[in-house]
Amino acid sequence: MSAQLLEGKIIAAQIKQDLRQEVRSLKQKSGRSPRLVSIQIGENPASAVYIKSQKKTAQGLGIEYTLETLELDISQKTLTRLIEGLNHDETVSGIIVQLPLPKAIDHRLTMSSIAPEKDAEGMHPENLGRVLLGNAKLAPCTAQAAMQLIESTGITLYGKEAVIVGHSEIVGKPLSMLLLNKFVTTTVCHIATGERGNLAEHVKRAEILVVAVGKAELVKGDWIKEGAIVIDVGINRVEGKLVGDVEFEAARERASFITPVPGGVGPLTVTMLMRNVVEAFRMQEKL
Ligand code: NAP
Repeated sequence: MSAQLLEGKIIAAQIKQDLRQEVRSLKQKSGRSPRLVSIQIGENPASAVYIKSQKKTAQGLGIEYTLETLELDISQKTLTRLIEGLNHDETVSGIIVQLPLPKAIDHRLTMSSIAPEKDAEGMHPENLGRVLLGNAKLAPCTAQAAMQLIESTGITLYGKEAVIVGHSEIVGKPLSMLLLNKFVTTTVCHIATGERGNLAEHVKRAEILVVAVGKAELVKGDWIKEGAIVIDVGINRVEGKLVGDVEFEAARERASFITPVPGGVGPLTVTMLMRNVVEAFRMQEKL
């Protein structure tokens, strides 16, 4: 069996079409467009690629996009003051702070300083708490993207066995809650699972497998359960080529659905960011 490709671009195109219409109708009602402010601290090639894609996607949807580039040596206090100014600025609907952050800047503190209703990335503690409670309005974008891809297969989630590899705050942990809220039996593996030598054993049980680690081809093709849905979030550059965390060709022979890298989760992540901005705008305008 050769798995069907889950191409994020195609699913993203459908969601963007709906978002474009929604932005148009919100603009008619409020006389304004949603606006995303992106904060970049210092220059970084990886975030530059993401920023370019954010700008292009926002503009294509009628969302205003402003990039604030800050010096690498900015203090936490100055950054917090800037974010607080944006929190109070009525023309700003959403705020995103690009990663990586310099060492002097604390990620959690920075996320907490963004007003929860303007938290475009869905990483404010209040929004993460809502993910846990099952009533999230703004959820983390990559976790939402993985969820969209899983749901796009049309499978019944109720009672399925999912295994997530990687327990980061942006992907693994929130996704485990999104799946749990749909009554999926969810196992989360992390570094200690790998160190104990138990990773393959867990992966082999997965009807839904999501891998978000950042280690090229960590998950071997012959670990994949026949017919599994495989969502590969990882992005790794190997000899100038982008590869995921799953051995793609071998996994494709066993899975029923699999995301390519690149072209799987990535295009949907930026679309989920825009969906959060539109939702944030709707909440602020009470529309
Ligand atoms: P991260 O914060 O570094 O988290 C990686 C996770 O993997 C951690 O939970 C880590 O555990 C775990 N881990 C490390 N080695 C492991 C092993 N041998 N076995 C099992 N688990 C292991 O990374 P992230 O931000 O979640 O990103 C993960 C990957 O996804 C990266 O390649 C990133 O570029 C990519 N990504 C893609 C998108 C997209 O839109 N396509 C978005 C975000 C991220 P410990 O923390 O305990 O070490």
